[in-house]
Amino acid sequence: MRCNRCGEVVCTRVEKAYEMEAEYESTGEAGTDEYEVPRPVGYLLHKDLLGTQCQNLMHVTMHFDAHRDIIHREVEGGELVEAADCE
Ligand SMILES: [Zn+2]
Repeated sequence: MRCNRCGEVVCTRVEKAYEMEAEYESTGEAGTDEYEVPRPVGYLLHKDLLGTQCQNLMHVTMHFDAHRDIIHREVEGGELVEAADCE
């Protein structure tokens, strides 16, 4: 992540298995006889990043599908840069 304000590159690692929260499809079907074990329809990941050079908080939200592939990314306060910029 590169800070929009000062340009500092802040590195982060995401431990997907621990930080992703599962999203379940809300059935809204009360009264059905069959009990189904809810399966996640996707995953959400939130990450807040703060650099050391300024107080600009960067926020990342990533959406994953049921196979944990990234389908959408939202970034506030900064921009995503390649990990090669990290040490
Ligand atoms: Zn900054």
